[in-house]
Amino acid sequence: MNLKLTVTALACKALSFVAQKLGGGTDRPGSIALKVYPQVLKQLKYDGKIIAVTGSNGKTTTSNLIAHVLREKGYTVVNNAKGSNLTSGIATTLLCASDWNGRVKADFVVLEVDECYSRFIFEDVPVDYYLALNLLRDQVVRNGNPDLVFEKVADAIAKRPNCTLILNAQEPISMNLATKTNPALYFAMDKTERSTDHCVSGTHDCKICPHCFHKMDYDFYHYNHLGQFHCSHCDYQSHKPDFFGSEVDFANQSITINGTKVNVTYNTTFNMFNTVAAAAVCCSASGMSMEDFAKGAATFHVAKERLDSFQFDGRKTVCMLTKQNAASLDQSLSYVLEQPGEKTVAIYINNVLYLDYKDISWLYDVAFERLQGKVANILCTGNRALDAAVRVKAAGFGDDVLVYENDIEKTKEAFRKTKGDIYILATSAFGNEGKILEVLKDE
Ligand SMILES: [Zn+2]
Repeated sequence: MNLKLTVTALACKALSFVAQKLGGGTDRPGSIALKVYPQVLKQLKYDGKIIAVTGSNGKTTTSNLIAHVLREKGYTVVNNAKGSNLTSGIATTLLCASDWNGRVKADFVVLEVDECYSRFIFEDVPVDYYLALNLLRDQVVRNGNPDLVFEKVADAIAKRPNCTLILNAQEPISMNLATKTNPALYFAMDKTERSTDHCVSGTHDCKICPHCFHKMDYDFYHYNHLGQFHCSHCDYQSHKPDFFGSEVDFANQSITINGTKVNVTYNTTFNMFNTVAAAAVCCSASGMSMEDFAKGAATFHVAKERLDSFQFDGRKTVCMLTKQNAASLDQSLSYVLEQPGEKTVAIYINNVLYLDYKDISWLYDVAFERLQGKVANILCTGNRALDAAVRVKAAGFGDDVLVYENDIEKTKEAFRKTKGDIYILATSAFGNEGKILEVLKDE
């Protein structure tokens, strides 16, 4: 018995218990444990398989979907459901789940891992399956551009040459993570009614082939640069998928994966696409059938704080949480544009509150121009309201459409100056995005 390990794990559990009671973060206990015993994660033993999920977009929802389906099938699962995906959050999750001997007794450990921290986590955690959903520009000030993130993820994979990779056959940057040694599986999704033949997003992160630097051609796009691709010069192209989503029915919320119909509780392109990724992971890691996957997926709901719907002022109001991520905000705009009726888009940015992440240049990567002529009003609120308003003005909107209010407490009045259903795009670096809901729901 490793006494130091037992004591560290116990201390982590105790701290985590206290943090939960006090409503504190899930990173702290693990961070303290790693300071006291930096090698602690290396000492843990696992009864089951370890699945890691990364990507610029969708890793929280997808890893929660995977954990949900595995549990529905009767497996025991440990996961970092709340998305504490840095080394310290992972340490909290694993130490809290371990017994006195440092053994994690679960059939599966499902970890959402940050792209840039994967290489540290993979050093200590023997990952069996690694799902890379996509790589797009995301929190560039913190992460750097997708090419730099690619190098970091590739470093992580190099530490685990036996780990099975699950790769997106319609995302040319992350598909290039395939190695000569790691076994790999691929997922893809057929063209849908929302697919386009040109990129409608504000950004396109892969216009040239990562192998030969010639022009990359796309047969269609799902969103941003995700779509069926082939290089105009070399043989780099969308890999033949092992798991393929088709017959995507947004109205009836279903998708067919490898011939089996899967009913879901959401209707967005990225969640449909991520469902195919989750199916690839669940079926290959556990050997479950597509029918079993479909049964589990049918009862999965996207976390409420990511998509909340309520009434304000007698108007339908939908709040969508995104990170400081242009692709994610672009997706939210696509969703808004598909909704019928008169509408107002509210942009709520509050990241000035947090440490070093004050950059809002990524707002210029979002195609707000697409809202031209399609919305009654655009409301900018929160303490970055003026920055957002400048961006919206640059997109060609005048004072007839634009409303702004940087005092969150007065935001209700600002909302009353607008017309139609309300779609709030709440973006934040580290929490507090709920503040706008508190204010609006406080009637
Ligand atoms: Zn090429």
